Amino acid sequence: MTTSPLNFVGFTGEDTPALTDLQNCIHCGFCLPSCPTYIATGQELESPRGRLHLIRNVLDQKVAPTDRLLGHLDLCLQCRACETACPSGVPYGRIMEDARASIVAGGITKRPAQWTLRMLLLRHVIAKPNMVVGIFSLGRLYTRSGLQRLVRGPLGRLLPKRLRWLEAQAPVLATPPYRDRGTVASPAAPRARVALLTGCMHGDLYPQTHRATVRVLERIGCEVVAPADQACCGALHSHAGDAEAARDLARRNIEAFEAAKVDAIIVNAAGCGAAMKEYDRLLRHDLVFAKRAEHFSHKVKDVLEFIAEQPFTEGLGTLDVDVTLQDSCHLAHAQKIREAPRTLLRAIPGLRLHEMKTPDRCCGAAGLYSMVQSDMSRQVLAPKLEDIAHTGAQVVCTSNLGCTMQIEVGLRRAGMPGRVSHVVELLDESYTAAGR
Ligand code: SF4
Ligand code: SF4
Repeated sequence: MTTSPLNFVGFTGEDTPALTDLQNCIHCGFCLPSCPTYIATGQELESPRGRLHLIRNVLDQKVAPTDRLLGHLDLCLQCRACETACPSGVPYGRIMEDARASIVAGGITKRPAQWTLRMLLLRHVIAKPNMVVGIFSLGRLYTRSGLQRLVRGPLGRLLPKRLRWLEAQAPVLATPPYRDRGTVASPAAPRARVALLTGCMHGDLYPQTHRATVRVLERIGCEVVAPADQACCGALHSHAGDAEAARDLARRNIEAFEAAKVDAIIVNAAGCGAAMKEYDRLLRHDLVFAKRAEHFSHKVKDVLEFIAEQPFTEGLGTLDVDVTLQDSCHLAHAQKIREAPRTLLRAIPGLRLHEMKTPDRCCGAAGLYSMVQSDMSRQVLAPKLEDIAHTGAQVVCTSNLGCTMQIEVGLRRAGMPGRVSHVVELLDESYTAAGR
């Protein structure tokens, strides 16, 4: 740990952003028009180039990492649209994750309170399955008792505006959770054996996505297991800079999925899949796990990527429906997968796909961002809703539960018609329509 002449500690620890990564930036500004926070503010310091400049200056110990400076880093959605736009191959996602991890690792003792709160939530709630189950059981009671309907109706007018806004973010938990573990699908003569990441909250928030995933995988001939010892993927921890917690979760997942002895690890949330494909980098300094993490990462497949590589078109039934597709950032920009969801949707007879003007622009969900940066999250969501409205679609398809939640809330609050579904759910509906 070195102290600068200005008397502050710069980035520190194994996650210090690499100078070689930062030096790739040629300051051309091609990334600016793709950055949602730059579009919303017009401010250089809320752009990828501006943030890279700040990180470089902290690394060089030319500026101190003040609360104000950290605020600019914190307003980044980590959507990685700038990576796609960059002609110079700047690995913006890992630079930002490294910067946050290095800050959290202890170089900067006075972090904004928001960073500490976020870490407490991630470590002591989201990473603890029993806590998650308890909270969602209460949420389910809230929905089923009818209280949620009352709060969203006549009672809501009595609540303070902030509380009303927070409540509107809450999901409607009307479907029984998906908590199946072990072998969850076993077709005769399977073509492959795959494992499903059940995730920390997916089985409670969107159980229908897991059920559809398992049914579709079974229909295309896969035996599916859901390892009981698996953990949260750690994506939210990595994004928040809690690399230590992310590494712990990654090690647990590697052990759990290795024991399952599968051909592929299937993930139906793009944010989780992106993080798991990067376990090899996360654990690169771990003498025991580095090699195992490499094998693990190579086996991770987004569910849409996996299905598109299999013979899946036989037995699809007609769906007479107008659909638009939100390219989830961590599928399009982090995993570089754009064609697979379109291939699947276009294969469904009767389905009409209407593209948005900017389908790969972030919706403002970004993990916990919609809670901790709610104003900017709403600013980013507003043009997305307009873009959706112009397509005239009845269904908005996504590939990530964060996007599903954010767009559902946006449609509900704006009084817009339509539903939001994972692409795999439409594929499942199509097979069902054909009676398969
Ligand atoms: S990750 Fe997204 S929000 Fe952050 S700088 Fe890049 S484009 Fe902007
Ligand atoms: S990050 Fe890439 S696109 Fe943005 S200014 Fe640097 S080199 Fe140009």
